[in-house]
Amino acid sequence: MKNQAPNTAMKISLRADEGSVPSSDEITDETEPPGETDEPPQICSGRKIFFPGVSDELWNSWKWQFQNRITSVKELSKYVPLSAKDILYLEHVTQRYPLSITPYYMSLINTNDENDPVGMQAFPSVREIDGFLQGYDDPLDEKGDSVVAGLVHRYSDRALMVTTNICPMLCRHCTRKRDWNQKGMVHTQEEFNAMFDYIRAHTEIRDVIVSGGDPLSLSTNRLEGILSTLRSIKHVEIIRIGSRFPVVMPQRIDDELCQMLSRYSPVWFNTHFNTVREITPESAAACDRLLRHGIPVNNQSVLLKGVNDSVESQLALCQGLLKIKVRPYYLFQCDEVKGAEHLRTPVEKGIEIIAGMRGHTSGLGIPAFVVDLPDGGGKVPLLPDYIAAINPGSILFKNYRGNLYSYRNPDGQPDKDVSRLSVMPSSAPHVLPGVEA
Ligand code: SF4
Repeated sequence: MKNQAPNTAMKISLRADEGSVPSSDEITDETEPPGETDEPPQICSGRKIFFPGVSDELWNSWKWQFQNRITSVKELSKYVPLSAKDILYLEHVTQRYPLSITPYYMSLINTNDENDPVGMQAFPSVREIDGFLQGYDDPLDEKGDSVVAGLVHRYSDRALMVTTNICPMLCRHCTRKRDWNQKGMVHTQEEFNAMFDYIRAHTEIRDVIVSGGDPLSLSTNRLEGILSTLRSIKHVEIIRIGSRFPVVMPQRIDDELCQMLSRYSPVWFNTHFNTVREITPESAAACDRLLRHGIPVNNQSVLLKGVNDSVESQLALCQGLLKIKVRPYYLFQCDEVKGAEHLRTPVEKGIEIIAGMRGHTSGLGIPAFVVDLPDGGGKVPLLPDYIAAINPGSILFKNYRGNLYSYRNPDGQPDKDVSRLSVMPSSAPHVLPGVEA
């Protein structure tokens, strides 16, 4: 598989005004397919263009990647042509919603394409403050379910630890972007102790999600302190790590980290790929390293307008994930978060995508489409409706092609009015006469 970057004329999406941006160099991806060769990966051309003098040693050092994040609009303008007016507008945006892009993630962006699905997740946009009146700072009401600072206890058997607000990349669609301005927040040891005391006292909690921000922003030692304390609590059966590091800074997933994580098994790792373009030799190797240390890796993507809101892009992403042995777990409807309205899709779009995937790839490659309800209502899975009618003793199903099948329940009678297989004409609505759509 070769990822061929689009060749469209350049109009940078983050521009406040249009029409005066010159073209920059074209980026194409010359990388080899992930996981299919032992040869060292070729250098992606984005790295050659944007970071030509950086040695392999530095590039592969996560500390270098972290220290060299792009965190201001002026720095960004070294990589993307921006007019003085663009800079002014975008500085206004980043005062409210800061900017952070790792060199690695920058190297994946095609700056020739205003609709680049990688760039749209990383570059600030004036639309973040245009749509400012819509949405909520805390759409899931996590504050309402915080039992002590940093610990959310919503479902009885699970608890979520928000360890820090630091992330190597600030994803423009983030549900917790309200916290970005508390620069470099890490909970104090006293606050962590209060979280552990709460979990100890609540024996119904069997599953703890260590999240953030990104918990892998903490040092490996500090993270180990959290995991070892959780593991010492008898009723905590499962520890989950929620981290986007494999996608935005895979260099962090080194042997030292994986060995540490493997000492506290069972540890499940949930990451966040949104497009097949993020599946690179480096991100594939990071996931492989986790898997080889006995840490299962699942993916939780967010449905984003213009990034991954088509059947084709979701099939490419999910089939790419299966090839690197990462299970597509959730596809989240983008939350009603302030500053991300321009990236949201109608809920029906997600159902349409799942319907379009079913029958065209293995069930293993189809994530659960989920809406996390506002005000702490929790997650609701949504499926296309495959039931055409419920009759006495039998159910009438519609399959992915729209064909109808009667299925007899135990002790029931087959539907007399429907043959076992009724093929619906392709133009017909996928319901029987008298059945509401
Ligand atoms: S990695 Fe997760 S928590 Fe961090 S900015 Fe991205 S979406 Fe938000």
